[in-house]
Amino acid sequence: MIIRKLYRFEASHIVRNCSSDRCKYSVHGHSFRCELLLTADRLDRGQMVYDFGLLKGGVKDFLDGFDHAALFWDREAPGYVKAMKENSKRWVSLPVSPTAEQISRVIFLAVSAILENTEKVNGDDTARVHSVILHETETGYAQCFRSDAYDAALGKIDLKNVVFSDEVKAGWSDPGMWGKLLKGVRFKNPKIAMQID
Ligand SMILES: [Zn+2]
Repeated sequence: MIIRKLYRFEASHIVRNCSSDRCKYSVHGHSFRCELLLTADRLDRGQMVYDFGLLKGGVKDFLDGFDHAALFWDREAPGYVKAMKENSKRWVSLPVSPTAEQISRVIFLAVSAILENTEKVNGDDTARVHSVILHETETGYAQCFRSDAYDAALGKIDLKNVVFSDEVKAGWSDPGMWGKLLKGVRFKNPKIAMQID
């Protein structure tokens, strides 16, 4: 069984080496929609794959990190990176080009790491990411499955090389979340009252 949680974020990027001149020569933005699909070997005590309410903690914060942010490849020319950092308080530096394909891989790996590092107390310990569908436009999306996320042929992604600006981190409920995740610190899910949005 699969469950889906939908997230949204607005972000800018530039895509080098692609076929479209508009994408490779101009910084532009998209209203991204991210479908997070989860699966599990069994249902938890609440007879769910994973309580939607639990996806409002670190996972929601992580995805909100991309919102109104400049997304750029860390192999861009130094002048471009410098300009982005100087002119946008919110930015995310990525070890891969910020295409829908690669961002979906980053999201797969990061959400997997967050779930793996979260203490499960309700029989939901087998819950895991099934895939990530990242819509870049109304008509186009990329879908990352587990095999894609870890496929070195698609470009190795080490989450240590995904860097969020201080302004992004300041917007999280725990500004130290990303650093803790990279160090393998265990997370506890917050108490949830209701499953609203
Ligand atoms: Zn684009």
